[in-house]
Amino acid sequence: MQVVCLDLEGVLVPEIWIAFAERTGIPDFRRTTRDEPDYDKLMRWRLDLLRQHRLKLADIQEVIGGMAPLPGAREFLDELRSRYQLIILSDTFYEFADPLMSQLGRPTLFCHRLMTDADGFVVEYRLRQPDQKRQAVNALKALNFRVMAAGDSYNDTAMLGAADTGFLMHAPEHIAAEFPQFPRHESYPSLLAAFDDAAARMA
Ligand SMILES: [Mg+2]
Repeated sequence: MQVVCLDLEGVLVPEIWIAFAERTGIPDFRRTTRDEPDYDKLMRWRLDLLRQHRLKLADIQEVIGGMAPLPGAREFLDELRSRYQLIILSDTFYEFADPLMSQLGRPTLFCHRLMTDADGFVVEYRLRQPDQKRQAVNALKALNFRVMAAGDSYNDTAMLGAADTGFLMHAPEHIAAEFPQFPRHESYPSLLAAFDDAAARMA
């Protein structure tokens, strides 16, 4: 029995923080896991920036409310879920994800939480568990699932390595060059075919 684990941002939806950088006109928010491999460092940088610019959680949620999944993502997920069990493993936050998850048909999502103060300013973030993507894959394997995974960035490579089969999807050049062990896909039909091939080999 196979489970597919997918990253969210960059794979199924645009990068939320890049959309936020564009909307606010503050280019420093463009820094993502594609640029900074240390997630804690990246989040500290973002929380500092939010504080400096006096931006609240509601300001970010407003931007996300106007976003849509990447073209074809919903159809891809529907097709994938007709063939395999699916879990989205993301380093985003439940407070951000809801409008996008509803457009994706609400697949299962494992991610993190943001803490706000009484005025709605983001004061802290809480990882549900450190290294959660790898931990989730290992836990699924312990439950006797075969795991296939795809992601686009540094924060996915531990998940891809732990999975029985891992693919890069929409990965930037430098990440594809650094992790040549993970076959690279650029379209949903090609990724779906790769999952089917891998599943057939596991059967
Ligand atoms: Mg990503």
